[in-house]
Amino acid sequence: MNDWHIETKCIQEGWKPGNGEPRVLPIVQSTTFKYDSAETLGDLFDLKIGGDFYTRLSNPTTNAVEAKIAALEGGVGALLTSAGQAASLVSVLNIAHAGDHIISASAIYGGTFNLFHKTMKEMGIDVTFLEPGASDAELEAAFRPNTKLVFGETLSNPSLNVLDIEQYARIAHAHQVPLIVDNTFPTPINCRPFEFGADIVIHSTSKYLDGHATALGGVIVDSGRFDWEAAADKYPGLTTPDETYHGIIYTKQFGTAAYITKCRTHLMRDLGVTPSPQNAFLLSQGIDTLHLRMERHCSNALKVAQYLAENPLVSWVSYPGLPGDKSYELAKKYMPHGTCGVISFGVKGGRDAACRFMNNLKLASIAIHVADLRTCVLHPASTTHRQMNDAQLAEAGVTPDLIRFSVGIEHPDDIIADIQQALDTL
Ligand SMILES: *Cc1c(COP(=O)(O)O)cnc(C)c1O
Repeated sequence: MNDWHIETKCIQEGWKPGNGEPRVLPIVQSTTFKYDSAETLGDLFDLKIGGDFYTRLSNPTTNAVEAKIAALEGGVGALLTSAGQAASLVSVLNIAHAGDHIISASAIYGGTFNLFHKTMKEMGIDVTFLEPGASDAELEAAFRPNTKLVFGETLSNPSLNVLDIEQYARIAHAHQVPLIVDNTFPTPINCRPFEFGADIVIHSTSKYLDGHATALGGVIVDSGRFDWEAAADKYPGLTTPDETYHGIIYTKQFGTAAYITKCRTHLMRDLGVTPSPQNAFLLSQGIDTLHLRMERHCSNALKVAQYLAENPLVSWVSYPGLPGDKSYELAKKYMPHGTCGVISFGVKGGRDAACRFMNNLKLASIAIHVADLRTCVLHPASTTHRQMNDAQLAEAGVTPDLIRFSVGIEHPDDIIADIQQALDTL
């Protein structure tokens, strides 16, 4: 890693061809790798030496994209997963097990909420959710002796609350547990949570990082800064011998990369939530232009948010880049150059008017996606968050009339004209 600007890193980090090698990242579409001796393969299996032997664990295409994202976030290592959901799952299971407890901000993606509230509970991991703006005392009160991690979203999908990363990190660290932050919406272009004390960052790369809505994926990035040995009793998986690898101790053998190495060698081995090399390549192509796209997403979204805020048919607008927004001050602190392209708002007439408005859009498509280059729109209460009751919706910051509008990188005047004509028909 070096001190290039982040724009340069988007393009130059990751695949670094040697003399006569392909200039563009090659797609190594092979499940497996050939070795000349059984001993070498044995050493690979025992983690005595590094190298690719089976794509479930590592692959040259995937490795290059992991290095690129680690460089963008400023981490010591990264692991790509088959989807964002797998990144959330693995990042937690790496350090929390049956009988343990985790703390999470309540303003998170609906899929993550389900994972924590349903599946992890069934696995014996208990969760406490904290509402946006929780005080230090409320955060403190959530901790138990068996609390293993704190989780939050930099900029929550779809409620657009900005997490007070420094507050969460300070209190998590006082209890000797790490802070995991889902940084999907701002991307490392607009926020690098490690700079504010987060220990692990995850992403759904299916969103802005890929940016073209072509490949599902996720990533886990390790800052390398959390001191697992200082809290050795809490994290035996990292600090005591792993019998499935002849007794290696992750913190001893891999130092600052202990956490991310265990994600790969233990959980990827056992769960197999691996991305395809083809998808890793598509992700890399997307990241090449991430800095350009984010700039346009943000400037377009600010124009659309300003337009909506002034429109009498719109009952409310939430966009952290808009002065006066509930998250404006926190956004200024954590994302001074822009937030993301997603806006949420309500139209007068509530849920029914929201559906009529969406049906009348022509340029913006109704899609279960967000954060890609084509403008799209979604009604979370009837789709991504439909499993939640009204109380849970309120806790997640999703009102029944909330329209999630993902501003693309088309010309802003065309996007605004489309909204205008759809509002005119209400
Ligand atoms: C979409 C999303 C996820 C889940 O990612 P998938 O790639 O769809 O599995 C997790 N977190 C956030 C913030 C998301 O927007």
